[in-house]
Amino acid sequence: MHIEHELKLDFKDVLIRPKRSTLTSRSNVDIARQFAFRHGKDAYDGIPIIAANMDSTGTFDMARALQPVGLSVALHKHYAVEEYAAYFNGLERKSAAFYSIGITRADEEKFDKVMAAAGGRIGYACIDVANGYHENFVTFIARIRTAWPELVIMAGNVVTGEMTEQLILSGADIVKVGIGPGSVCTTRKMTGVGYPQLSAIIECADAAHGLGGLICADGGCATPGDVAKAFGGGADFVMLGGMLAGHNESGGERIERDGQAFRRFYGMSSKAAMDKYAGGVAGYRAAEGKEVLIPDRGPVEVTVHEILGGVRSACTYVGARRLKELTKRTTFVRVTQQLNEVFGKG
Ligand code: 5GP
Repeated sequence: MHIEHELKLDFKDVLIRPKRSTLTSRSNVDIARQFAFRHGKDAYDGIPIIAANMDSTGTFDMARALQPVGLSVALHKHYAVEEYAAYFNGLERKSAAFYSIGITRADEEKFDKVMAAAGGRIGYACIDVANGYHENFVTFIARIRTAWPELVIMAGNVVTGEMTEQLILSGADIVKVGIGPGSVCTTRKMTGVGYPQLSAIIECADAAHGLGGLICADGGCATPGDVAKAFGGGADFVMLGGMLAGHNESGGERIERDGQAFRRFYGMSSKAAMDKYAGGVAGYRAAEGKEVLIPDRGPVEVTVHEILGGVRSACTYVGARRLKELTKRTTFVRVTQQLNEVFGKG
């Protein structure tokens, strides 16, 4: 047994210190990014925020709502081959949508079929497992990289620098970072395993950037300020589940209770998800996600506007004219309190 004594941080442990700047208005801030990749060919041009590949956020409706604003979506795994093919065939900005793929034989076969049916028009894929520390996962990434040399591959999830490096060297362009921080994730509760998300971002970004790779901070953002902190910590992309859930475009059954409308939202390793897609929780495992009811939040456009407004404003507070400069201009201060909650948590 070994204990690491260095303090690791979460979003709630820090604030971003303001800095003198000449920026006059947040409308002057450019939050789009252009990325070229270490392996994949199709360059990214857009706002580097991605809707999570959960079945209630990674929907075609979400993709259609986020595309015009410049954000991207990681589509969930449960559409039919023809549905993906039709979607990718009509997609103009390839980086607007990631095809999600697990590491089973069936996942790979389905991917091959969709690629064929879409005439090879999938530019971005997300190879997704709960635990990215498996040898099988590394081998799988290497195989997909060899099979599709031009594909932009995002792969995860991991939380440490050495595994980030391993995934990039095996063929990943973007490493997805986060174990346990998600809004409907119960991994930390069920297993005791995890890593404070802001420190994971800082450490993995450093490792990735040294190799010409990128990272996507996945999970744990509950406010626009958290998204700004993730970018400030070095994330190239930020993936959002809970913040985009509960909207008209989110999927998830709508339920009325006492005159109020709610939407179901659940983790992809929850009992609800396994009942729906895998005929229940297999006998040898426990669910590592939960289900919640979110008050219906209407069109996602309004929430996205708030998130982007928050990130732009964070940039003006530290004098970053472009999102690209935010990390360089970020100094985190450790705090013991985030918000004044005298009138509630809103
Ligand atoms: P959020 O933005 O809601 O805080 O986090 C979203 C992320 O939580 C997803 O992108 C995914 O990585 C993770 N996630 C989704 N469902 C589950 C689950 O059932 N269990 C765990 N451990 N993580 C999940």
